[in-house]
Amino acid sequence: NQAVLKKAGLEQYFPDWEKVDLVQTSITIFEEIVCLHKQNILLGCLDLTSIRIVNSKTIFFTETDKYQIDDFPCLLRNTQFIPPERLDYIDKIFLFSEKTENYVAAVLAFTLMMPGIMPYAQRNSGDMLINIKRMQFPYAFRENHSKGVPNGFWRFVWSHLYYDLKEAFYKTFQYGEEKSTPESRYDTGFWLSKLKKYRDALLSGEYCKNDSYSAMMFPDTFRKVKNETYITCVNCKKEYPVWFMDDEFGTICKKCRSKKSESFFDCVDCGRRFFYSIKEEILHKVKNWKPQKHCDDCKKLVICKNCGKEYPAYLLRDGYCKTCKRKMYKMM
Ligand SMILES: [Zn+2]
Ligand SMILES: [Zn+2]
Ligand SMILES: [Zn+2]
Repeated sequence: NQAVLKKAGLEQYFPDWEKVDLVQTSITIFEEIVCLHKQNILLGCLDLTSIRIVNSKTIFFTETDKYQIDDFPCLLRNTQFIPPERLDYIDKIFLFSEKTENYVAAVLAFTLMMPGIMPYAQRNSGDMLINIKRMQFPYAFRENHSKGVPNGFWRFVWSHLYYDLKEAFYKTFQYGEEKSTPESRYDTGFWLSKLKKYRDALLSGEYCKNDSYSAMMFPDTFRKVKNETYITCVNCKKEYPVWFMDDEFGTICKKCRSKKSESFFDCVDCGRRFFYSIKEEILHKVKNWKPQKHCDDCKKLVICKNCGKEYPAYLLRDGYCKTCKRKMYKMM
């Protein structure tokens, strides 16, 4: 199937997999690539759908005729796997090299570890090619905060990822970092060795010792670190670091606060029903607020057609305020 290496595909075809199975699959794939390289074959570019996975130790590459064998250039173009320095020449025929191949390996390692997402994919960001050229890597590393990480569970998956790999991805994909130039990129063997270290740490249980969620393919909270305080969210009952809790209500997490609650009000003007968010629901309880009467639409300020003063929309009749309306009646 096309999307096996994406979240939905993995959950459909390999529902029992844990992270270690994904890492083992990646090792199998990388071992195959190392084999190809020994025969002087380069992937050149890559189409993820050409990787068939039977199980974590058996994979096949299809469309092998598209590889670059000796000096016969690879014609496949998939912008996701084209290194930044080559993007402007994408329509030209060129020979892929060890340098471009190292980039392909890095992207492949990333999209295997963060199943189905690309290193430069960002939230609300239209043009991925610009992100690739500028090498704006959105994930947090050490003192660098995340910037535009795609919505959903990606930051949790990133958080649980093996430290060596996070470091290597950051150094490779972030502009100006140590391994970010074509000459300095890590090679396939490097990624293979890191993947093996990761697998061994997962298999021995060492990596999940302090946080069992690290064994999961799609954890839904951050990896626990030392010296960080964790709080259980009253809504989802998951533990999060303090900074991930709402600033006002330290017991509700940032994921839950804007979710729909069970409480609602019916607008007295337009009759529509509105549900409060979890945070609004708490605010109402804590501050003893009465349910709202007018919805935001009916409350928004509108100018009276006659006197030009601003009033909440629900106070106007046919665009006139009460005072003006009364005057008009008198004149009639
Ligand atoms: Zn929560
Ligand atoms: Zn209303
Ligand atoms: Zn008026």
